[in-house]
Amino acid sequence: MRELNLKLVTDTVRDLLLEGNCDLGADVFQKINNAIQTEENPLGVSVLKQIKENDQIAKRDRVPMCQDTGMAVVFVELGSQVVFDGLLENAINLGVKQAYAEGYFRKSVVRHPLKRVNTNDNTPAIIHVKSVPGDKVKLTVAPKGGGAENVSLVKMLIPADGRAGIKKLVLDTVLEAGGKPCPPIVVGIGLGGNLEKSALLAKEALMRDLNDEAEDETIRELENELLHDINQLGIGPMGFGGRTTALAVKINWFPTHIASLPVAINLQCHAARHKSRTI
Ligand code: SF4
Repeated sequence: MRELNLKLVTDTVRDLLLEGNCDLGADVFQKINNAIQTEENPLGVSVLKQIKENDQIAKRDRVPMCQDTGMAVVFVELGSQVVFDGLLENAINLGVKQAYAEGYFRKSVVRHPLKRVNTNDNTPAIIHVKSVPGDKVKLTVAPKGGGAENVSLVKMLIPADGRAGIKKLVLDTVLEAGGKPCPPIVVGIGLGGNLEKSALLAKEALMRDLNDEAEDETIRELENELLHDINQLGIGPMGFGGRTTALAVKINWFPTHIASLPVAINLQCHAARHKSRTI
């Protein structure tokens, strides 16, 4: 067994959040840059150029790329041979607290959904732990803003709805969202499982590199079809019209019940922030 000092977890979560809020992933940046060449609407091109410039300034000056520095979502792939010298959850939340203080990031978490008093340190984080073989820990952090999260949903379709039902649900959801999730968006879809599993799959789908391709041929085809169809909706960058509504569609899937076809759609704005490190 490997005993791991939790300070390393705290430091890593802090560093990843400090980096993640200011430094957009190369895959997302490249897609935005490419879209400047392909977007047909001059206003859309202008918006994309401003997004690009904003992202460059954020990286250069180490300032957040968006004022909404999000609620911290943390994925932990926990090696089965790792033991900690304390509570993992506390160590992660301490890292969040330190990052939001050190980076002067906006604290965006309220203690109670109805009483709405700010926790003032952006904790608690949303933490997902998965057990994997080995003696390492992979931490992935994603500061998730409220705008795109608010127009995300889970719908329990039935098998008879099939592929056509999934496509209709996704297109209706993106159209209804319009400019609210700050397009160009990434569309994370969780297909299968049950109600809560599909939501987690959709979030995990947003952690994929935008250039990767689904291994499953049927899923890969559906991702490509949906990307094409979404970009025909005319929403465009920040909702000002155009062909660049989505940069990518990512579908993660899981076995499901014979009576069910759960579909979760997690929209992600152009500030598609996530960083990973293995310790
Ligand atoms: S949806 Fe994204 S880009 Fe828009 S305000 Fe929220 S975090 Fe910022």
